[in-house]
Amino acid sequence: MKWQNLISWVSALILLGLLITYFILFFFPYSIDFSFKEVNNNFSITAEGSTSMQFYPNMRFPTSTITYSIDKVGCTVKKIADMKRAFSSIQDQTSLSFIELPENGAITIVCESTTRVEEGLYIAGEGGPSNVTQTGLFNVISKGNILLIREDRCQTPSIAIHELLHVLGFDHSTNKNNIMYPVTNCKQTIGQDALDLINELYKTPSYPDLAIQNASASFTGNYFTSNVQIINQGLSLANNSTLIIYGDDKEIKRVDIEELDYGYGRIISFERLLTSKRYDKVEYDIEYNGNEISKENNKAILIIKK
Ligand SMILES: [Zn+2]
Repeated sequence: MKWQNLISWVSALILLGLLITYFILFFFPYSIDFSFKEVNNNFSITAEGSTSMQFYPNMRFPTSTITYSIDKVGCTVKKIADMKRAFSSIQDQTSLSFIELPENGAITIVCESTTRVEEGLYIAGEGGPSNVTQTGLFNVISKGNILLIREDRCQTPSIAIHELLHVLGFDHSTNKNNIMYPVTNCKQTIGQDALDLINELYKTPSYPDLAIQNASASFTGNYFTSNVQIINQGLSLANNSTLIIYGDDKEIKRVDIEELDYGYGRIISFERLLTSKRYDKVEYDIEYNGNEISKENNKAILIIKK
């Protein structure tokens, strides 16, 4: 009767084994799913990389209210809805606001229904700034284009957000969890560092910023020779201003400067301008009645060599 005993023992062991397997299979996976693993979705995986998120430094539109127009002809209802959700998403998370215009918005959105494959990957869309002006303080984007190609299969409009961030000046990220990674997947998110950079860039008000960039002055006897460059390095057009030149605090010359758009400058030159004496100090002062990003750079003082 010993072998019967053995069979009972073996059967009991098999049953126990099955029970354990059952518990592992049916309960353990849930306990894995519940465990929370923090995902790094930042644009730059390394902290020092945060300054190079954009194609050029300090890229922004002139104002924090940005217009857009959708060329609806080639767009499906889904693509239009995704694009609008992308605008809402950035608007909700930053200081930016987007306004739709029937045409001629700063951002133009067009769609294409053909399938495009490059290097074995489906092209989801294209986007970027199309007009950038370097002003000194900023690389000002005045126009951008978005082309939506593939229909998005994600719950969040990943493709539209990705292309919109390109238009706002953002380059590709090397972080697979970030929405700016070149290959899209539905788990990717924006990352706080890019949102923080947007808010930081648009903190500066949309004013002009007149500044004296280069100034040189010399005297030959009582004759004054000078070159001075005035630039608008700000974010909007500067109306008429006046350049006043002083010699030892006495006014030598006054020059009216017509309006200057951002990114533009003017060179003002004098050759052998007769003055009442040879001054030791020459001061250049831009008088402007309106607001400016900074008034401190409106002045330059030169000490004339003896
Ligand atoms: Zn891209």
